[in-house]
Amino acid sequence: MLEISKNRIKRRKAIAIVTAQVLFSIDPDVDLRGDVKEFAMILKDEKGLVWTFYGQTSGEEVAKLILEEGLDTDEVKRRILKYINRRNLSEKKRRYALINHLADYLCNYCSKTDTYKELVDDVKRAVTTIQMPTDVQLSISPENIPDLLETLTEDEKARLLHTLNRKIDRRDSDFKRGEELEKHINNFGKNYGIDCDMVEFISEGHDVFGIKVFIGNSEIFGWFNVTFNELKEALEKQVRLEAKDKVTCPFCGNKIIRYVAMNKLKKCDCGARIELADYSEKKENTTYMKKDIVFLKSPKEDD
Ligand SMILES: [Zn+2]
Repeated sequence: MLEISKNRIKRRKAIAIVTAQVLFSIDPDVDLRGDVKEFAMILKDEKGLVWTFYGQTSGEEVAKLILEEGLDTDEVKRRILKYINRRNLSEKKRRYALINHLADYLCNYCSKTDTYKELVDDVKRAVTTIQMPTDVQLSISPENIPDLLETLTEDEKARLLHTLNRKIDRRDSDFKRGEELEKHINNFGKNYGIDCDMVEFISEGHDVFGIKVFIGNSEIFGWFNVTFNELKEALEKQVRLEAKDKVTCPFCGNKIIRYVAMNKLKKCDCGARIELADYSEKKENTTYMKKDIVFLKSPKEDD
């Protein structure tokens, strides 16, 4: 049942709005050149209920209403045009999302190509290895990608090729940056005898990096919102921190970086043996097993 104002002007507008909503839901491609009678013809046999701003109604009810009370057809047409534009816009958005989604996945499997045909050939070769979740909303799955690529419009093909190549470029440059950072920090660590191992490097744009890197005895893991140079500096700082942590040989007073003593050396310059000893540390109610360095000088075990 519709709830429409008794006020003449409000009523006229409400009937137009209801008509537009119901007409559009019955026939989204309704011919807008029609007049009141033609609209009523489309509506009159439709008994299914449609939600409108003024309550639930059916085409049948609306047809009766407009035949009795008249219809502001200009208002109806303006509204339907708006619905059509909105539908086209959301369809356009959906297509954009589809292209981006394809590019996101394919950039992991494809190399840069100059033409769309090469791209399709490349995808066909890679299709069995492609792993992606099936996207129900966009109806993409690895198996239907080759067919999907054939159904794109020329504009969409051009956009996919362009977007994909750009993503591949970015992937390659990310890879290079990761390699650069790994090499840099390895070399930096060597100055102190501290080993560094970069396990993961992900970059999101220019200033967000996800890394997992072991620097000496410590592990740095997480996302950092910094520039690439700041990231480099932060890792260098960690190397320096590790290098500051030193142990002193009780026999000669030699100071040795703890990591180096633990991992690299068997003996101090003075001949004392360097060994690792387990010890336990009690904190609150928990006992932690730790390793510490001991310097030993006993002729018996000397070699
Ligand atoms: Zn010593």
